[in-house]
Amino acid sequence: MDEQFAFSDDELPGPVSPRVWRVLAVDDDVDFQRATAFALSELEVLGGRVELVQAFSCREAQMMLAQQQDIALVLLDVVMETEDAGLRLIHSLREVIGNRDARVVLLTGEPGLAPAHEVMRDYDINDYWAKSELCAERLLTVLTAAVRGYAQLRAVATARRGLQMIVESSNALFCSKSTRELSAKILTEISSLLNLQTEGVVCLRLDEIQDEAELAVRIVGANGRFSGAVEGNLDSLDAPQVAKALSQCLREQQTLRLAEATVLFFPRFQAGADYACYVTCERPLDDTEIELLQVFSVSISRGLYNVALFSRLEEMAYQDDLLKIPNRNALIRMLDMTLKSNGKDQSVLVLIDIDNFSGANTAFGTGYGDFILGLVAKKLRDAFSSEVLIARVRDDLFAILGPQTQVRAAEIVALFRRHKRPYELGQVHSLSSVTMHLADFTGSASVALQDALLTLKQAKRLGHDQHGVYDPRLQSAHAESYRMLLALRDAVEAGQISVELQPQIDLRTQRVTGVEALARWRKADGKMVPPLSFIPLAEATGYILPLGDLLMRLALQAAKQLADAGYPQIRVAVNVSAPQLLQHDFIERFSSHLQAAGVTPQQIEVEITESVAMRTFDTVCEKLRALRAMGVEVAIDDFGTGFSSLSYLRLLPADRLKIDRSFILEIGEVSDQQMIAEAVIQIAARVGMQVIAEGVETQQQADWILSHGCRQAQGYLFAKPMACAELLDWLGCWSERQR
Ligand code: C2E
Ligand code: CA
Ligand code: CA
Repeated sequence: MDEQFAFSDDELPGPVSPRVWRVLAVDDDVDFQRATAFALSELEVLGGRVELVQAFSCREAQMMLAQQQDIALVLLDVVMETEDAGLRLIHSLREVIGNRDARVVLLTGEPGLAPAHEVMRDYDINDYWAKSELCAERLLTVLTAAVRGYAQLRAVATARRGLQMIVESSNALFCSKSTRELSAKILTEISSLLNLQTEGVVCLRLDEIQDEAELAVRIVGANGRFSGAVEGNLDSLDAPQVAKALSQCLREQQTLRLAEATVLFFPRFQAGADYACYVTCERPLDDTEIELLQVFSVSISRGLYNVALFSRLEEMAYQDDLLKIPNRNALIRMLDMTLKSNGKDQSVLVLIDIDNFSGANTAFGTGYGDFILGLVAKKLRDAFSSEVLIARVRDDLFAILGPQTQVRAAEIVALFRRHKRPYELGQVHSLSSVTMHLADFTGSASVALQDALLTLKQAKRLGHDQHGVYDPRLQSAHAESYRMLLALRDAVEAGQISVELQPQIDLRTQRVTGVEALARWRKADGKMVPPLSFIPLAEATGYILPLGDLLMRLALQAAKQLADAGYPQIRVAVNVSAPQLLQHDFIERFSSHLQAAGVTPQQIEVEITESVAMRTFDTVCEKLRALRAMGVEVAIDDFGTGFSSLSYLRLLPADRLKIDRSFILEIGEVSDQQMIAEAVIQIAARVGMQVIAEGVETQQQADWILSHGCRQAQGYLFAKPMACAELLDWLGCWSERQR
């Protein structure tokens, strides 16, 4: 610090050294005053003219000193109105007025009356002279020394103020997040630091080679008449002199001081890249200012480095590692900005998902998968202007966000359809998409993405090459489902889920052959939630696995109670959903539940619907065979609604077909439905299965099915589903009645 602001004698700082040195002579001796005025007239010291101000009393001098802070030297006669008037004046100058810079030279009429050493030191008095010794020549020497001392003190004070400003300016720089923002700040801060109207340019060297003929340079910031050149090269400045100065600075790698400008250099090792900053000045800068700029340059370099670091961190947070395109975070950020902007209504979000990607990944390895993803990313990037954001959300899911005039799902899909040879490797044969017009959307960015994803998922459920459009009317349905799912989870934990059992009757013997276990959800307020509203929801969300486990355990407990009450021959039919059945360890789970409940497999029947059975025929058959091998019976529920082919049906390992209620309902009227019921009974006989009718409500229906060869029935005619204890009572009454 001391070194930086030490100045050689010949080079006193310009603006700090005023063009005028004011000297105050305080003496009531008119002759001395006149002689002094004469000696100092037309005098120049250290590049400045000397201007004399005179005071004939200490009081007058005190007024002047209080008003004029720029007095360089006080020539003071010690003995004035009183003995100590002179010393009191100096005390007031230093302690009251607080001026520590003005130099003081004491004069006395009588030689040998020197003030005490402590006084000289405490009041920072430079010199002491007897008037008689002070000839004109000596006066000049004394004056020069004092003015120099004054100038140095002022320079240090200015530098200190400058440093203060540098700290403030540096703080301003360190908030910048982009090079452009930072460059603009650098230029304004330099101008306020120098207290000058400046114009300037900040540019960055792009190439690393030092001796290239052509410098590759990008202008990252500019103001004043250069403003138009931002993002351009040196030519775009349209100022050959400025361009020349900047390239000289970058080439020589050093700061240049020109008559009309200063060009600061920021080296790569400090700033992350080589930068040059051209600042115009209406006058040449003095050394102090150059020093200040140099100190400030360190902060600028750090600012530039920080910005580079920030953008690298941002890259890490907002870029997909594999594909080097924006990631989900970047999408959310952009989506958020778009949703809050005026452009929202014209913007569209498209999500695309490569059909069967995970299959290809498994078949050909992840290297192949990565290759495909790279192709897709490139194709998408090439297809749109930079205004459109292409992001990878996850796996093989990409997002395209931009103006609806540019982003159209059909065209995106077409991009991937152009291939003539669809079975060539390294191609995307089919993809599914969803389009969300942001005008239709009112929620937050992450909810938008989530809703778009949900729509895509629903579309994909229908198969490959599906293209959905987000429908805001479905949004409330989604929200409602979500609430219900949460409530269902709570209900499971709170023990609000139970099963009721509905008897199945042999119509010829009137004996109870089985019961079907049906899920029940009784809410805290006693209201029932019908299974048809929560079971499909649980199936769609995967929650059916834990829920199904619970229902299974409840059904098995009931079976145990029935056996314990003397009804081991009554089968308990359990409804099993597709996701449950298709679990790889379903059979193991099922038998461990049986064991835990102490129930034999013969007491249990598993019901699966016809549509589930036919959808994944082979896997289902395998599971059903395993169940039957254990001794568990299998029933095909809702039979007749799926129009299964007879040949498949023949292969299906099942014991019983349950004729769907809708066919039974029509019995009594001659209708198609009734004919189907008749056909179902015949089919069952042909494939060697038993048949049971569900939803039998009237004696007429019961008579009809029996007469058509269906011996078993379940329905309100006999009993509604009941809790286990109630069922035990009912069973007691029922066998009483049959006697
Ligand atoms: P489902 O398996 O076809 O069950 C038969 C449904 O018909 C039951 O309705 C039963 O209460 C009703 N029902 C029985 N007899 C009659 C009748 O004479 N007239 C009328 N109108 N209805 C009758 P519920 O209990 O509302 O169950 C509806 C559906 O919910 C079931 O149809 C089944 O698909 C599903 N479900 C119920 N419990 C479970 C379960 O524990 N697990 C699974 N996966 N699904 C279940
Ligand atoms: Ca059923
Ligand atoms: Ca059914």
